[in-house]
Amino acid sequence: MSEATSSSHTSARSSTPSDPAGDGPARTAYKAAESALAQARKDAEAGRAAWLANESAAGDDKAHPLYVANEAALAAVDSAEAALIAARDVLADSDEPRAFTFRTDDGGEMTADAASMGDAIDLATDWAREGDYDAIESTIWVCVRIVGEDGTESATTVTINPDEPECDPDDGHDWQNPIELVGGLRENPGVYGHGGGVIIATVCMRCGAGSKEDTWAQDRATGRQGLESVAYEPPGTYDVSSWGAPETAEDEPDDANAIEAMTSSEAWDRYMGSQSRREFLATYADSGSALSVKSQLEVDLATADLARELSSKARSVLAAKLAEHVSSEVER
Ligand SMILES: [Zn+2]
Repeated sequence: MSEATSSSHTSARSSTPSDPAGDGPARTAYKAAESALAQARKDAEAGRAAWLANESAAGDDKAHPLYVANEAALAAVDSAEAALIAARDVLADSDEPRAFTFRTDDGGEMTADAASMGDAIDLATDWAREGDYDAIESTIWVCVRIVGEDGTESATTVTINPDEPECDPDDGHDWQNPIELVGGLRENPGVYGHGGGVIIATVCMRCGAGSKEDTWAQDRATGRQGLESVAYEPPGTYDVSSWGAPETAEDEPDDANAIEAMTSSEAWDRYMGSQSRREFLATYADSGSALSVKSQLEVDLATADLARELSSKARSVLAAKLAEHVSSEVER
């Protein structure tokens, strides 16, 4: 994480220019109080130096003019400090722009003017999001601490998700969850329990990229749980070629022909792997020459579904039966 963020978070004054007309009254008063305190401290330092340098004065001579002056200078510092705190509170309660400094754990820092802590948090969030996080493979959480010149402090955690991999420039990803690729339970392919949430795995049927959403992610830096994260696997991770392109009206005749040309085991696999078996059968029927096969298949496949629940042996027997139907129709 430190490599991912440090390059982009450089110390810089906000690009937002200060109001050329000058600061508002609260900020002007605050700055004056800052200067007054600095001067009071300087005076006290000088007074103390003079007192210590005065060899003629006895150490306990509290009536000595240098001692009296030194005490007065220290009292002036105290009241200047109190005045600064009061001016700072007035500034914090105002809606005048003032400086806020944003800091990340990896050393990134920026200062920007904002009219409230809420506005400052918004700016800090934008700033954190603008960082260069190209290298991240899954969601990270960037903690930004915010300190105002008005003495207020806050912190915010910014969620940074990895960029989606590139896909078809026109249609984009087509995220689906065929059980053969994402695994899991037949009723809910690609969904796995994780802590108090789930991991949802999907595959892009266009480019073969994978996506894993976690609804119970943990920020390892802070130990915080129950966050949402996403991670991607690059295009080509999954072999989606056997599924072909996502179906469109023009594709259907080709698909139907392809089914007729399939070997029996391919047809079986295709059927078992199809997203919608009803759709598969409809496609098969559209080929025209396979209408009778379709009705027989419906019976066989319904039986096969039942049989699958009973035994894998029954499944292979029924697969062979399907094979007979397919090959006899193709030969016709
Ligand atoms: Zn894709």
